[in-house]
Amino acid sequence: MQTIQSVYRGRFAPSPTGPLHSGSLVAAVGSYLDAKCSDGEWLVRIEDLDRPREVSGAANDILHTLEALGLEWDGEVVYQTQRLTLYQQALHDLIKQDLIYPCRCSRKEIADSSIVGIYGMVYPGTCRHNTISLAQIHNVNHSHALRVRTHQDCIISEDALGGQYSQNLKHEIGDFVLRRADGIYAYQLAVVVDDALQGITHVVRGADLLDSTPRQIFLQQVLGYATPRYMHLPVVTNIAGEKLSKQTRAAAIESSNGLAHLIQATQFLGQNPPQELAQGDIASFWQWAKKNWHVEKIPRDSNTKIHDCVS
Ligand code: GLU
Repeated sequence: MQTIQSVYRGRFAPSPTGPLHSGSLVAAVGSYLDAKCSDGEWLVRIEDLDRPREVSGAANDILHTLEALGLEWDGEVVYQTQRLTLYQQALHDLIKQDLIYPCRCSRKEIADSSIVGIYGMVYPGTCRHNTISLAQIHNVNHSHALRVRTHQDCIISEDALGGQYSQNLKHEIGDFVLRRADGIYAYQLAVVVDDALQGITHVVRGADLLDSTPRQIFLQQVLGYATPRYMHLPVVTNIAGEKLSKQTRAAAIESSNGLAHLIQATQFLGQNPPQELAQGDIASFWQWAKKNWHVEKIPRDSNTKIHDCVS
């Protein structure tokens, strides 16, 4: 039997490092509305690989809040910790292509030998001469990180809001880690494998992840995956201009005040919700929001400025 794939499949992929806050709610609402207004599906994936940073109960808490706010996902929620074999397979594929090498550099060694670029420290390739084969992978003890060899061709991403954005990975980022020395698969690898294997066609998320996109496109290219469409939404900041996060003590969304939070999130996305919505309920809010979603009204974040390759 042939399965008909939806033309639009989006997702929301929170890390369970704390409850949903007004910053993550904007990504949830933006990705949900963009999917639903394109007759698409909207999946939820819990990015729980970084166990040391996980806050116990946060995943359930996020899911309950989404439900209470009427953000209904399609299919089963996916947890990255249950998909480790998929990340391992992708890593093996890259090892076969001789794109992976073990690296034992300490943070201090990297800090001492790196150039600092606009995205932070650029790994200088100290361990690039190291090699690893599939036969050796199980012997690599966990004091080694595994890095991917990047190249210096310009990687170009077309953002639905910010336009063209490009990076020269070798010069601006350096070879990056796909499996950390503590054995945890890196976000960059897991997100690429999941977006591809879940058939995600559209990634709508915060602009703080814009500079990860060329790394992800590079991995899609070497793994033979399709590249989804990307749209990076403006990021909510506090008075000090810091992105809202657990570190900046963002307040949790209270479900009891869900309607007000939803109105605020759509307002932040430039959609001009009428004042009367506040007197209604969540169902009437979504009715209005789905009819009135206009991508062209979303403010362009200064973070989404066009960046060209440095050679
Ligand atoms: N898990 C990431 C976060 O919570 C989002 C990843 C993504 O959307 O690509 O910031």
